[in-house]
Amino acid sequence: MPPLNDLQPAQIGLAMAFLQEGVIALAWVITGWLLKDVRRPAWHWASFSLLSGGSFLNYVVSAHAQMETVRLLGNTLFVGALLLQTRGLLLFTGQGADDRRAIGILVLLLATLWLWPTHADAPWRVASTSAISALCCLWTSWIVWRHMRQEIQRRRWMALFTLPSILGALVLVHRAVMALLSPQQLIQTSIEGTSISLTSAMLWVLLSLSLQLTLFGLVIFKLGNQLRKAARHDRLTGLLNRHAMEDALTQERHRARRVGTPFSALMIDIDHFKQINDRLGHAAGDHTLRAVAQHLRKQLRTTDVVARWGGEEFLVLLPGTSRAEACHLADKLCDSLRLLPIPWGGQHLACTVSIGIAQWRPTGDTVDALLARADQALYRAKHDGRNQVCVEPTMVQTGHLAA
Ligand code: GH3
Ligand code: MG
Ligand code: MG
Repeated sequence: MPPLNDLQPAQIGLAMAFLQEGVIALAWVITGWLLKDVRRPAWHWASFSLLSGGSFLNYVVSAHAQMETVRLLGNTLFVGALLLQTRGLLLFTGQGADDRRAIGILVLLLATLWLWPTHADAPWRVASTSAISALCCLWTSWIVWRHMRQEIQRRRWMALFTLPSILGALVLVHRAVMALLSPQQLIQTSIEGTSISLTSAMLWVLLSLSLQLTLFGLVIFKLGNQLRKAARHDRLTGLLNRHAMEDALTQERHRARRVGTPFSALMIDIDHFKQINDRLGHAAGDHTLRAVAQHLRKQLRTTDVVARWGGEEFLVLLPGTSRAEACHLADKLCDSLRLLPIPWGGQHLACTVSIGIAQWRPTGDTVDALLARADQALYRAKHDGRNQVCVEPTMVQTGHLAA
């Protein structure tokens, strides 16, 4: 390494890029340490940063070494870094690491590098390294595109996240073509005191930074999604929570007012649930809650909404469903839950439910009033002996309430 005072501006630039990559690597290590979910990908990306930083440093410190070897090493480090980045992405997106393809690309690179080692500036070396790096970038954009299509499904974001790697690939392809068509123009003399040309250095640094930005963006997106999901779901059962159900009810009320079709609500409460906790412990109680939640989800249509409303209470929203249809469904649920086998410690837990039904009324009905009527019906089902379905009192012609 030359003394710091003797460094050329371009060398300082590359050394800064090395430091930058070091800081980014540290950020990935900390991210992986803090977030268990992304630990393995984050550590891959830390290695990606270290290897690309290493390739920058390699060009600076070995300025006086034999150019050819230095360039081959720099190229190999950079492609290795890109492959680690891709492997991290595959793990992050749950697509499964594809080591055979990665090894194939690496072997291809080594073969091409050693096939044309005759001169450090050999156009074929530049062309093949650029083409292989472009291939890695295209692979990256394909993985990102597939992930975004599944997870986010918003074209704007899909385009934004895949753009850096696609642009990187295009620039690299252009460089590969130019290296073959007009080698003299493209393959300039190295920056003084380094073994890399200014264009290559700029290209490498920009590509590496834009890929890092994409990766951080993906992690932030994932965290955002997890937070949004956690805020709307019940942790134990995975069903929507009370807050999300209130939103769904309000929305459905607006829709019903506009379209004029009715909707109904079922308030479901497990009978004598406390006894399960008291006799068999809280874990058995939790297990029962999960089993009931799963059964409800399975029995209902995808357009129906089911939420954990409270401790052992569930609320089901049935869009476009009349009271009579809701009654029919509630009876089915009550019967099937009575027969539901819930295996626990070598025995089967018995569990029955009581259900209260209410239908939204088009004349100025509110969500609170609807729920109060469903709750009232549930109370009656409990009072009348549990393990049954009760319907809200209905308005009769005279305006009096009737059961
Ligand atoms: P009823 O038939 O009148 O509904 O009687 P119940 O025992 O089902 O109702 P009660 O309100 O007396 O008891 C509900 C119990 O549910 C009390 C509470 O400790 C338990 N519980 C609430 N949330 C959870 C939970 O997340 N897990 C477990 N295991 N128990 C819970
Ligand atoms: Mg109960
Ligand atoms: Mg209860």
